[in-house]
Amino acid sequence: MKMCIACGLPMTSISDYPQHDMSKNYCKHCAHFDGSMKTFDEKWQNLTLHYANHHNIDYVIAKDIAYRVLRKLPAWKRR
Ligand SMILES: [Zn+2]
Repeated sequence: MKMCIACGLPMTSISDYPQHDMSKNYCKHCAHFDGSMKTFDEKWQNLTLHYANHHNIDYVIAKDIAYRVLRKLPAWKRR
């Protein structure tokens, strides 16, 4: 089983892949409509809003948590 390099989501079925393309190593949530991978800044923004909205965390703190979570993932390690 593969894990998304950009967000860590386990990709268990073909529907988790962008455009059902199993050669990709990132999930549909990390892809644009054309199938290309989102940038670090886009994922950072997505995840910050996710934490802020779903976990009721202050936006500034959510941004910090999101940054640290993303930095652990293979897609962003070299940044
Ligand atoms: Zn992903």
